[in-house]
Amino acid sequence: MPYRAPLRDFTFLLDHVVAFDQVRQTDRFSEATPETTKAILTEAGKLCEEVLAPLQRVGDQHPARLENGVVRTSPGFAAAFAAIAEGGWLGITADPEYGGLGLPQTLATAVNDMMSAACLSLQLAPLMTQGQIEALEHHADDTLKARFLPKLNSGEWCGTMNLTEPQAGSDVGALRTKAEPNADGSYAISGQKIYISWGDNDFTDNVCHLVLARLPDGAPGTRGISLFMVPKFIPDSDGNSGARNGLRVVSLEHKLGLHGSPTAVMEYDRATGWLVGAPHQGMAAMFTMMNNARVGVGVQGIGVAEGAYQHALGFARDRKQGKTPVTGSGAIVEHADVRRALSVMKAEIFAMRAIALANSVAIDMARATGSDEWTARAALLTPITKAHGTDIGCEVASAGMQVHGGMGFIEETGAAQYLRDVRVTTIYEGTNGIQAMDLVGRKMMDSGEAAFRMLQDVEDCAESARALLPDLAENVWQAAESLREATEWLVAQNMQDRFAGATAYLRAFARVLGAHYHLKAAMAEDGPRRALARIFITRVLPEHIGLLAQARAGASALYALSEEDLAA
Ligand SMILES: Cc1cc2nc3c(=O)[nH]c(=O)nc-3n(C[C@H](O)[C@H](O)[C@H](O)COP(=O)(O)OP(=O)(O)OC[C@H]3O[C@@H](n4cnc5c(N)ncnc54)[C@H](O)[C@@H]3O)c2cc1C
Repeated sequence: MPYRAPLRDFTFLLDHVVAFDQVRQTDRFSEATPETTKAILTEAGKLCEEVLAPLQRVGDQHPARLENGVVRTSPGFAAAFAAIAEGGWLGITADPEYGGLGLPQTLATAVNDMMSAACLSLQLAPLMTQGQIEALEHHADDTLKARFLPKLNSGEWCGTMNLTEPQAGSDVGALRTKAEPNADGSYAISGQKIYISWGDNDFTDNVCHLVLARLPDGAPGTRGISLFMVPKFIPDSDGNSGARNGLRVVSLEHKLGLHGSPTAVMEYDRATGWLVGAPHQGMAAMFTMMNNARVGVGVQGIGVAEGAYQHALGFARDRKQGKTPVTGSGAIVEHADVRRALSVMKAEIFAMRAIALANSVAIDMARATGSDEWTARAALLTPITKAHGTDIGCEVASAGMQVHGGMGFIEETGAAQYLRDVRVTTIYEGTNGIQAMDLVGRKMMDSGEAAFRMLQDVEDCAESARALLPDLAENVWQAAESLREATEWLVAQNMQDRFAGATAYLRAFARVLGAHYHLKAAMAEDGPRRALARIFITRVLPEHIGLLAQARAGASALYALSEEDLAA
């Protein structure tokens, strides 16, 4: 079944669930009128259906490869990237002064969702570029901005992020890449980076690497890291790609999935780079790109879930097995267990999409108003979007394979590719374990204030839903209360106990939020939306009870089982 952009869901979510209107009412985003929104979603949807989706299988079957030091991308990817650039989707949220469209993140999230569903391996290239644009806008000086931003926005050049080294994965502070000052104010960058997504390509005139490295006087750990712009070609005096810089792709990784995306080992040998932001402040600057990418990676999970769901639904309507209860047609979509699987998949996607869009609305409101509360809300929701969005991507893709039966395990149907491709999203951009620790650690440094404010919104909404939907409202209210109690317990614990429960806590939080947004949808529209909300609230939400018990279990029991016991 060919991919169909879920435009009705986006419009409904924006209008009735995540209150996108408040973003439109700000001066900064007043141009995002309902008409502009519709035009953006329609255009992006068309691009995804017609140009990107046909490349999904091509990228898988004809992976990017390295030939004599040059990356050759999958057939059709060059033209599709040009079409993405032409549509303005690289600079969708970027500053118009440098050629961006200046639109809200919320719309970028919807566009990225559709692009991920259509062709995840290609979509990673624009995602990295979008993140780099944002990091440069916030941290680069005017010269760097003028030199790089227009070309990144137009898609003539594209961007990557270089953190990981063999000994420095989650522990970024262990990196060894060096930056030595040159006489002209630039720096010589030397070291090896691994797993660099879209580390090279054969369709943009330049590849701009944002590289974390340590200056000679940089302290050990994350405090001594600086950020550098290190392009493949050094821009000449006219601003065009000039001399070849001292960097190269050593090899490309052989991966489980995402074959169309070249994942490179990069070697920097006294490559010329320019400092982005202040010396030793590289982590703060890179966090701008990482936070953008974290929401973007969570959205990758949602997009793939949508693609996998549509694929499974198409199969289930065609495949006939045995006697079926509704029309007797034999189509497996009529069997109760298959109906359960598809309904839960659909409900999960709706819930997670609402969380990501609400996260994006908070980002937009923070940008437009500078409000601390919106900033804290965006920060709270980001690890949830990243971790739960990608978990749901994997779970829905796996359920999609199950709906296909044996044909799901056979590559021809394409069901397996969704699962292979999406699997890495729980790992890269900070593993989901690291996201959960971020939620219960850094994001609760305010003693849980942002979380309690969010829960107050959930409870207020449930209260107002009681008259119309008493049973659903009560379930959501009770779940929010349990999460509030667990949060009160959590913020009183030491970090080790918090970390021991972090993954379960994050998932419970996502369950409560998902139920909250479903309840809002059910309030706004009767019919299928209300039926879907009932499925989520009665079948998925109850999971929070077991999760919160795990979240409060503490660390001591984990360590009571020693390393030797694990090995015994
Ligand atoms: C296909 C692909 C594309 C990638 N693209 C990029 C890219 O473009 N740029 C880039 O810089 N990197 C990229 N990465 C690297 C990716 O971000 C890292 O793989 C990831 O951050 C995890 O690091 P690691 O692999 O070293 O695992 P490790 O850090 O060794 O982690 C192993 C396990 O230990 C856990 N763990 C580690 N530390 C802790 C801790 N303190 N507390 C609790 N648990 C912990 C982790 O959660 C994980 O489960 C990519 C990776 C892949 C596979």
